[in-house]
Amino acid sequence: MGCCDAPGLMPLEEAMDNMLSRIKPIQTTLRLPLAEALGYVLAEEILSPIFVPPFDNSAMDGYALRIADLEQSKTLPLAGKSFAGLPFEGEWPQGTCVRIMTGAKIPQGCDAVIMQENTQVTEDGILFLQDEVKLNNNIRPTGDDIKQGDIVLPKGARLSPRDIPMIATLGVSHVVVVRKPKVAFFSTGDELKPLGEPLAEGQIYDSNRYGIKPLIENFGCEAIDLGIIPDCPKTLAETFEQAQQLADVVVTSGGVSVGEADYTKDILEELGEIGFWKLAIKPGKPFAFGKLNTAWFCGLPGNPVSAVLTMYVLVQPMLAKLAGHTEWKAPESIPAITKTAFKKGPGRTDYQRGVYTIEDGQFVVETTGNQSSGAFRSMSLANCFVVLERERGRVEVGETVQIQLFNSTLY
Ligand code: AMP
Ligand code: MG
Repeated sequence: MGCCDAPGLMPLEEAMDNMLSRIKPIQTTLRLPLAEALGYVLAEEILSPIFVPPFDNSAMDGYALRIADLEQSKTLPLAGKSFAGLPFEGEWPQGTCVRIMTGAKIPQGCDAVIMQENTQVTEDGILFLQDEVKLNNNIRPTGDDIKQGDIVLPKGARLSPRDIPMIATLGVSHVVVVRKPKVAFFSTGDELKPLGEPLAEGQIYDSNRYGIKPLIENFGCEAIDLGIIPDCPKTLAETFEQAQQLADVVVTSGGVSVGEADYTKDILEELGEIGFWKLAIKPGKPFAFGKLNTAWFCGLPGNPVSAVLTMYVLVQPMLAKLAGHTEWKAPESIPAITKTAFKKGPGRTDYQRGVYTIEDGQFVVETTGNQSSGAFRSMSLANCFVVLERERGRVEVGETVQIQLFNSTLY
């Protein structure tokens, strides 16, 4: 047995269920101008107050006419024009055609638009060269896209760059959204140095805060950076106290394994009820979750790959639930053929970092190399996780594995 297949590891699903069953969505809502609502979760569904388009309009630059008139004569006199925003005025006279532009209102009584490329201007009027004209040719009817009263977006949707213009189409200027969860985070460790300062002996740069903050923000939450905290019980206790007052969730990195400097456990036992878990995943085995007096707590392992990975796999769904983002879906797995071998021993679900491509319509995947949980290059080069099942051993070239393409939060 290797170090990683010790008994008593908690399966990932059990950890997820435990977390998700306890979290209740935030109830506080706010009304925001649409232009400021990107990334927020809708607290109410969006119903369309109007038909879109609101009137029958032309899909082409050309001429509007009545098909029955065209059957009498291929040339029709021009009665006027209908431009976008400047409709044909008055009553449309039968037996004529109207110059019309894309988006302009179809004059009452016309039942087709012929594109200008199929016409010729003559002294007697417009000559139509198109043989067969179907009813409503090039006409976009009222409500073609959306009917008044349609549910355009459900409650619990997180507003994307596709949703904002959709809502704008309806003329809706403000939306009711859930307040963003606030997440305070800090790194723990005596060895950590801020960027921009030279390293003394035994020190490393604190990279985890730079991995955690963008994820918090990409998950649709507000990030509160509390810096680097040394492995000192008093300072840690004070920081936890401050963090829980500022935020809904406190996320830390480091200090949750069995190392000598791992004071977090003792401190947290005083501040709340926290479970320290050994998860059956690799990397990311040590993970802590629980409730402080007034905030949730997630303790990530210190190794940089483990910290980002547990944020993505475990904390992301939890924050989605807190944010009321009921439309959130876990990234799906797809089968791929291995182009390189993957080292693995049975015991834990392994999230190796891979690069997938598509060859002849088939997903193929190779390793990013050194898979140490301290080697962040493996994450930086990757575009997917290669999720190797718990009981699986070494994977050879040509085997089928499940890959999980990164969702937008890692781009
Ligand atoms: P720990 O979980 O505190 O035992 O740390 C595990 C490993 O991750 C050690 O090698 C630490 O030096 C490293 N580590 C901890 N925190 C950070 C951080 N914020 N940035 C980079 N590496 C870290
Ligand atoms: Mg540490």
